[in-house]
Amino acid sequence: MAGDTFECTMCGDCCRGFSDDYCVLVSREDIDRMSAHLGMDRQAFVTAYCVDMVVDGFRVRRLAFDRSGACLLLDGNRCGINAAKPLQCALGPFGPLWDGERRYDCMQGDFDIDKLTGNIEDVFGNYFEDGAQ
Ligand code: SF4
Ligand code: SF4
Repeated sequence: MAGDTFECTMCGDCCRGFSDDYCVLVSREDIDRMSAHLGMDRQAFVTAYCVDMVVDGFRVRRLAFDRSGACLLLDGNRCGINAAKPLQCALGPFGPLWDGERRYDCMQGDFDIDKLTGNIEDVFGNYFEDGAQ
């Protein structure tokens, strides 16, 4: 059936339009991997590319975005750290943290959502371990 296979066209739309209500959360492991990939000191990476916020009483860390809502790590339409990008990005727009909004053109197909989404319990601990990163 046409339109039932998810395909990324690398438009970069899912790296833009962020806000405090919809953003990329990063885990301790994400930060270790990304900072190493860029050859940056971990704290320098956090200062340059991350923002802390509190969600339901938990302190979490998200990627910073510019005034337009674009991820600071976006390079044109491509991820500037593709090989080391956060788990949330690697899981794609239908990942376990998906909030049910079909924001992007690539999400409009007649997909088997159960096949595309994972188990949030499998990744939840990555972000809310102990509130400190
Ligand atoms: S919005 Fe969809 S098509 Fe565009 S880069 Fe993200 S996953 Fe790929
Ligand atoms: S880390 Fe890469 S994939 Fe994730 S939002 Fe930023 S530019 Fe996009």
